[in-house]
Amino acid sequence: MNAIELDNVWKSFGETTAVAGLDLVVPRGCIFGLLGPNGAGKTTTIRMVMDIIAPDRGEIRVLGQPNSGAILDRVGYLPEERGLYPKMKVIELLELFGVLKGLARQEARARAADWLDRFGLQDWGDKKVEQLSRGMQQKVMFIGTILHRPDVIILDEPFSGLDPISSTEVKEIILEQKERGATVVFSTHLMEQVEKLCDEICLINEGKAVLQGRLAEVKSRFGARNVLLAYDGQPDFLYDTSLVAHYDDYGHYVEIQPAEGVSPQAILERAVREVEVWRFEVKEPSLHDIFIQVVKGEAAREVPA
Ligand code: ATP
Repeated sequence: MNAIELDNVWKSFGETTAVAGLDLVVPRGCIFGLLGPNGAGKTTTIRMVMDIIAPDRGEIRVLGQPNSGAILDRVGYLPEERGLYPKMKVIELLELFGVLKGLARQEARARAADWLDRFGLQDWGDKKVEQLSRGMQQKVMFIGTILHRPDVIILDEPFSGLDPISSTEVKEIILEQKERGATVVFSTHLMEQVEKLCDEICLINEGKAVLQGRLAEVKSRFGARNVLLAYDGQPDFLYDTSLVAHYDDYGHYVEIQPAEGVSPQAILERAVREVEVWRFEVKEPSLHDIFIQVVKGEAAREVPA
């Protein structure tokens, strides 16, 4: 059973089609990155999954069931707009979050206190929410999202507004949540976080999934893997066009784009016969490059001939 499934989901706001026939599968137990440029439809998709807005068409399932009622108690959701109750005390707000998701009051308070400790906010529990900085408020909302140990955690831009230390804390907690068996879906623009954290990704552009799958697969499917070589000697193999599509040579260091169908290993095997190899490295295309390539490619396709 998958954590989340969307079949041919559509949503328009007046003239704007925000989501246009989106198919999405989030397997259980993974960390899933929902990527896409501004206005791609990520937040609209997440809001539909959370049953805050209804799709015009299509089906949504969470943990194998229609996404309404009790099944959503098993989901933790961090919205993009962090609507907090400014006059409430932090600990009371967290207690309320827990109780609304079915925890006993005492249990909710104890868990909230532990998490505040973990985030270095132990002295802030009795302060009013409005006294906290924006980043601190975000951490409180994050605690509220995971307090009831949900099976599925959906985080809309969880890293926005966080300093590097807080981002690292959130990243570590996301990994811990996966280890305890939860599925984590998050939207972001930060490709670096995605590369480090995600098992699976979906790149959305103009309301459609344009790239989806396991991160390692997406990367190997996409773009040439260049080979970096530090060497001594005469690398005649660089002129062999059946092996090398393109190279950028600096005398003792060369970056090679292998010819189509040629593996980095094949390059290495030839290289060691001709030169002394000091260093050999396969450079994966970055997700950043893939993102730009795919999104720009889509845009180019839409330009009328
Ligand atoms: P970002 O990365 O900038 O947060 P996003 O991928 O989350 O973008 P959405 O917020 O889902 O994108 O917006 C998709 C499109 O739908 C945009 O064109 C947006 O203007 C439009 N849209 C979203 N919500 C509404 C709404 N309530 N009323 C009208 N238009 C909306």
